[in-house]
Amino acid sequence: MKKQKINWGLISILALLVTGISIGITSYYSKTEVSDIDVTEEAVQLPIVSLEEAYPYVIEPNTSLFEALRKLNVSPQAIQEIVTASKPIQNLSRLQPGIRFQVFYGQEPEPEINGINFRFSAVESMEVSKTDNVWVAKKVTEQVDIKVVSFSGMVTTSLWESAIKSKMDPNLISELADILGWEVDFSREVRQNDRWRLTVEQKLVKGEAIGWGAILAAEYENAGTAYQAALFRRDGKEIGYYSPDGASLRKMFLKSPIRYGRITSSFSTRRFHPILKIRRPHLGVDYGAPIGTPVRAVGDGSIVFAARKGGAGNMIKLRHNATYQTAYKHLRGFAKGIRSGAKVQQGQVIGYVGNTGLSTGPHLHFEFYQSGRYIDPVKKRFPSADPVPNEDLAVFKQQAETLLSGLPTWDVLEASEHESRRDTANVN
Ligand SMILES: [Zn+2]
Repeated sequence: MKKQKINWGLISILALLVTGISIGITSYYSKTEVSDIDVTEEAVQLPIVSLEEAYPYVIEPNTSLFEALRKLNVSPQAIQEIVTASKPIQNLSRLQPGIRFQVFYGQEPEPEINGINFRFSAVESMEVSKTDNVWVAKKVTEQVDIKVVSFSGMVTTSLWESAIKSKMDPNLISELADILGWEVDFSREVRQNDRWRLTVEQKLVKGEAIGWGAILAAEYENAGTAYQAALFRRDGKEIGYYSPDGASLRKMFLKSPIRYGRITSSFSTRRFHPILKIRRPHLGVDYGAPIGTPVRAVGDGSIVFAARKGGAGNMIKLRHNATYQTAYKHLRGFAKGIRSGAKVQQGQVIGYVGNTGLSTGPHLHFEFYQSGRYIDPVKKRFPSADPVPNEDLAVFKQQAETLLSGLPTWDVLEASEHESRRDTANVN
């Protein structure tokens, strides 16, 4: 259910942004099969009836449904009957704050409540109504339709900004950065005029956009070199992202523990220390980033240390296997559940950038050890995760070819670049 949670504010903004922009829908995607129907359609717009209009009431924090309904002059007896009728579907005494509902009243001379609809998510709701003096609850599950939408963009200042300029949800550019993050270090290798394109599933309920599904194919052109990824699905299950030849895009370690940080000090065996004013080696990599920036575990592993330690400040040390360990220093604090012995997964947020210990400003000091020795993670080539298994390779290659051929052509991007240049010229 968590996944269904929707940021309506964001969707509204997106829908508004998307209005008027022509986005090529290259194909419909149903279940696990890619059909070859070519459809061109606008991305879906904002619903005409807003959520607030359809469900005007909301369970406020620290209040109960009982209190909310009493405020609407619903009698305690009616509330009890509604709760009882709903029980087989939903325990109304344990509704989360934020759940919205609509109330219907009968006409004079009996203006008492005769119906109430609850919205649990964009997909699930419940209608409780009174007919012949009996309350009956009915669960309503909306069908989720999937359609494929495509976007493309070009970097002028930053990756994030290029997504905004392309009227795309910037969260999707983070996902693209995750998918191709082993090929391109998006925290330091992004260049002006780099360009990207992707196709993604959009989830719809009754024609209204409710969120994103999986990115199906993505390409990032970094300083003239193109990197491609296609999603491999088998029996409806997402196996992973691979390059068109079936090699895994996942590596044993992320290229960077910070998504958009910048390297402010590289690994060196001899460097002038800004605080100690002496030459001493810098046996890690510093990433400058604002306080509170999430720090990710670069690989699967277990925590061997998570506490304050002298000049290192708040520090986490991970053991990935018998060979590799990593350390994260000067953290502002630790993520929930991070303590000695806990297991973590690659990409999991373990802490937040800070300025604790011997540190001149907010940054992450990141160390990598191979068999107990400091190594420079930026220069090291780590092994890839497993490729598509041989027996699936033919199927994958076919899927990948279809998905990658569905990427928008660069002409679309070039056309919109010209457009925006012309707009700018008009303004001036
Ligand atoms: Zn450092």
